[in-house]
Amino acid sequence: MQDRFKKLIVSLKEIGLLSGIGSLLSWDQETYMPSGAIDVRSEQSALMAELVHARWTGDAFRRVLSEWVDLDSGAFLGDVSDEEKRFLSEVYRDWKKAVLLPSSFVSAFSSLTSKAQHVWQEARAASRFSLFQPYLAQVVAMSRERADYLKSTVVGGGDVTPYDVLLNEYEPGVRSSYLTPLFQELCVGIKDILKKVDVTKTVPNWEMDVDRQWEFGMWILAQMGFDFSFGRQDKSTHPFTTQFHPYDVRITTRLDARHFMDGFSSTVHEGGHALYEQGLDPAWFGTPFGEAMSLGIHESQSRMWENQIVKSRAFWEGQFQRLQMLFPHVLGEVSWLEFYHVVNRVRPSFIRVDADEVTYNLHIIIRYELEKAMVDGTLAVADLPHAWNAKYLSYLGISSENESMGVLQDVHWSCGLLGYFPTYTLGNLYAAQFYGQIERDILDVSGLISRAEFSPITSWLRKNIHQVGRRMSPSELVMKVTGESLSSEPFLNYLRGKYLVADS
Ligand code: ZN
Repeated sequence: MQDRFKKLIVSLKEIGLLSGIGSLLSWDQETYMPSGAIDVRSEQSALMAELVHARWTGDAFRRVLSEWVDLDSGAFLGDVSDEEKRFLSEVYRDWKKAVLLPSSFVSAFSSLTSKAQHVWQEARAASRFSLFQPYLAQVVAMSRERADYLKSTVVGGGDVTPYDVLLNEYEPGVRSSYLTPLFQELCVGIKDILKKVDVTKTVPNWEMDVDRQWEFGMWILAQMGFDFSFGRQDKSTHPFTTQFHPYDVRITTRLDARHFMDGFSSTVHEGGHALYEQGLDPAWFGTPFGEAMSLGIHESQSRMWENQIVKSRAFWEGQFQRLQMLFPHVLGEVSWLEFYHVVNRVRPSFIRVDADEVTYNLHIIIRYELEKAMVDGTLAVADLPHAWNAKYLSYLGISSENESMGVLQDVHWSCGLLGYFPTYTLGNLYAAQFYGQIERDILDVSGLISRAEFSPITSWLRKNIHQVGRRMSPSELVMKVTGESLSSEPFLNYLRGKYLVADS
């Protein structure tokens, strides 16, 4: 198949290489770039984006693709196998997304969101939503317009709402008619668990040297199978993962002497994302078969490492001593079980990124309902702060008038990312379901975790998830790997087992 599609694959690879150069510029901007370089860097990045877009939409690519696909209808030309059909339909969908958005729209949207991000920062600092409101209203309006351009690219076709089109950008094939009942079930289950968990525990304020935290983080990455000859970790204000090729995957973390678990969790979280990228098949680089399947599947990889694996009893029972040896003055008198409880403290709070794994998805469900209502037109942007507070009171039982801790806390909407939040919760659900399968497929998983011997888990993920690329949709993958369709039950059962069973 690679020989047959050689010309197409070469073109895609070149686009992948160019995009990688663009990502390298962004990585540098977030890590080491001197601040004075910002203007020239913006020009460089805009030029790279233009070059990539021109490759996708140019005549050369059109000619190569039209040897296999009718560009108007998407019908395959000649004899193609099922696998080849899958490959071509994914390439065709990517190409359509690039050509359907007029470049005037792309540049207008990008200049709106860059202004909106700037204003959002000011509004958040001042805790005044009214400053951001007109920009958010424009982002919502332009997102509807964007959905209108892209509606023919929705996987599965048929009747779709504008919000479905936006969802499809991040989680192909998922509709809100599917998400709403799934999230509702999840919400009922979480509220029931929350009623039974002790949410009054306080956590100690340990002071832990950041260089030693870094050392512990580098150790866990190596144990996870992160390959430092094909990647590196650095520091940045907001932790992220970026990749230029499976042979070059970068992650960042953020360390704080008073918040050990923030840094450690983010190292492991980004490490999980990075393993996915390092696990993609380099032979298919730049093509759909060498790319991550969806944001939700990506998030399942980071979340499983962060929650199921390193926040488990097994891990801290086996590895707490290693941490204790690095911080003897702080943790000398603490037991592994006390530490485990500190790490897994549950408490409803305002800030999504600080939320524990029991309440986290409620933050997402709130955002899902609000952004969907804004895109559907049933919630006016001006009414958002009020609706936000009402939902926090109803879902989490807390309320605050402080808008910087409320409706202004996340960057996503200012970047034009509507339809993105649900992928976080989907990631948690996928993670629990995949992890259940790992426990059935691998002998004594908790023994392996307590010894930090992760290679059987990493190999399982590589074979069953990473190497698949975009050969199937997320729902097909869940069915193939676990034998069942996605549901909230494995996740809820995981929470019940962890939080509602008394300590022995
Ligand atoms: Zn993530």
